[in-house]
Parts: sequence; structure tokens; C-alpha cells
Amino acid sequence: MEKKNLDWANLGFGYVQTEKRYVSVYKDGKWDNGTLTEDATVTLNECAGVFQYAQTVFEGLKAYTTEDGHIVTFRPDLNAARMVESAKRLEMPPLPEAQFIDSINQVVKANAAYVPPYGSGATLYIRPYMMGTNPVIGVKPADEYMYRVFVTPVGPYFKGGAKPITIKISDFDRAAPNGTGHIKAGLNYAMSLHAIVTAHEEGYAENMYLDAATRTKVEETGGANFIFITKDGKMVTPKSDSILPSITRRSLMYVAEHYLGMTVEHREVYKDELKDFAEAGLCGTAAVVSPVGKIVDHGTEICFPSGMDEMGPVTKKLYDTLTGIQMGRIEAPEGWIHTIC
Ligand SMILES: *Cc1c(COP(=O)(O)O)cnc(C)c1O
Repeated sequence: MEKKNLDWANLGFGYVQTEKRYVSVYKDGKWDNGTLTEDATVTLNECAGVFQYAQTVFEGLKAYTTEDGHIVTFRPDLNAARMVESAKRLEMPPLPEAQFIDSINQVVKANAAYVPPYGSGATLYIRPYMMGTNPVIGVKPADEYMYRVFVTPVGPYFKGGAKPITIKISDFDRAAPNGTGHIKAGLNYAMSLHAIVTAHEEGYAENMYLDAATRTKVEETGGANFIFITKDGKMVTPKSDSILPSITRRSLMYVAEHYLGMTVEHREVYKDELKDFAEAGLCGTAAVVSPVGKIVDHGTEICFPSGMDEMGPVTKKLYDTLTGIQMGRIEAPEGWIHTIC
């Protein structure tokens, strides 16, 4: 297979149209078998549920080339399971997990020429999503749905190394208690756009959202979970029913405990504790880990001892171990790496 002639190392994180995408339709109470298509456009009735009441959920994962030249995905079974949970919460018909995995395999294989080569730092981002397609004007779930998967090559998240970022504690809330913060739905992102644009205008890279009920506890950012390292080397990560269960975060917790012998605490984290941590980071599929150097809480600066120049040493170890597992340089736990071809 001939790779596309793309400047892999200088790709950004943007949409590059690839050749094939997967489509499956839900009608009369069942999903069809699904097929690959070259048509990148979606034509729907003006009154489709997705347009009127935002009935749509999505996933995000990556395919990449390992050191020994295979194209693989990382724990796609967890994306499949999470999409089932997201769909159920929005009264959408869950896509069978086996069909989810098959759809990913088909699209990645069909676009293998766009999977960046090993060592380029670039990856193939995979975007599965589902939406209500038939007309609904009274507020109710749609009867018909479309599930699609497209892929797009994305560049190295950090060009020239991962520099620690400065974030702010937001005055906006991301998710309500008993709301939809724990599912991957576009609606959680639509309402975060104003908050992130405002934060960027003020010079911050990201928002730290607090729990909406008491505003005393740390939740997450718009699209990544937090990890913290204590001064005595423990990993701490916030627990809340309104946080999206990041697969990267769950994998880092496992790596910390089983590969690095660290103590891992998954618990409520109070804003007042932030000043006591040694290192902080954001984690998610896109960047794996982005180090946080400083958190600004309404004029009060919390500066982590790891500083603003490089990733904290423990965060770095976590990052190197997880990316080593993903790229096939370090032996993976059973079932983490799905070889596509
Ligand atoms: C997708 C997402 C994450 C990261 O999850 P991963 O499975 O690690 O990619 C974190 N927070 C939110 C709100 C998300 O939507």
C-alpha cells in the first residue's frame, strides 16, 4: 500500500477529507449491515432530530502505525461501550459493540494510505458519530438514525515538545449533577464554546470546570480529564458522576499502578487541594497528556513546582509509558491493542 504524500510532521489538528467513510442506518427498529461510501456529505430533512433537538453523540479514537509496521487502534472496545451509554442517555438505539469495532476496522483499512507512518508523531483520528435523522417537531426521540465513521490524519499534538499550559478556573459550569456530563454528546460541547472562546481571549489555554452544585470540587476541562501528582508521588484523579470517563485517564491509572508501582487515588478533589500538588496534567485521546503549569483562580495563581518549561517528571513517565504501549515499544496489557492490518 502506497502512503499518501502528506507532510505528516506538519499536519495540524484539522479535517482532511479521506477516501472512504462508513454509514449504517437504523430504521424499523434495527441497524442495517452498514457499508463504506465515498460520499462525504450528509443530506437530511430540515426537521431531522439532530438539527432541532441536538440528538447526537460521538466518539473519538486514533489509529497509528506501530514500531513493527502494523496499523492498530487502542482499546476501541471501550469506545464502543461508551457510545452505547451515550446513546442510551439520549434515547438513541445503541449500536451493537461488535458493529462499532467492525466499522472502525473497515474505515481504517480502507484509508490505510492516510495512516501516518511510525515516528512521524502524526496519527489517524477516527470520529464515529450517530444522529437522529427523521423529522421531529414535537419534543421526542427520532425513530430513524444514522451512524457514520470518518477518519482524518492529524499532526503531532505538540509541535516541538509539550509545553505546560496556563488554565483558568471557569465561572461557567460544564455539566449539571444528574445531567449529561458523563456522556460524549455534542450538546456538552456546544455550551462550552462560549467559555473556551472567552478563556482564549483572556490568554488561557483551557478552562478548569468545578462541580456545578458546590463549586468546590474539580471536574474536568471541556474535553480532557485531569490528573494530579502529589508531592509524595501518588496519582490523584477527580471522581464525579458528571465527568466524562476518559479512556486515556483510565489507562493512565492502570499504567501508574501496574507499570510504575504508584498509588492511585480516584476520588473527589477539592479546589483547595490544588496548591498542594506537585504536577498537573490534562488527558485525552488527542494529546494523551498535556502538562498544566499554572492554574489561575480569579487572580490567585497556583503554580506547580514542575514549572512552565517542561512536563513534570512523573507526568512524563506516565506519558512515555502509555505512548510506548500504544506504539508497540512496551508490552501492552491483554486486549489493549487491536491490530487492524
Ligand atoms: C472525549 C473526552 C475526554 C477524553 O476522553 P478519552 O477517552 O481519553 O479521549 C475527556 N473529557 C471530555 C468532556 C470528553 O468529551
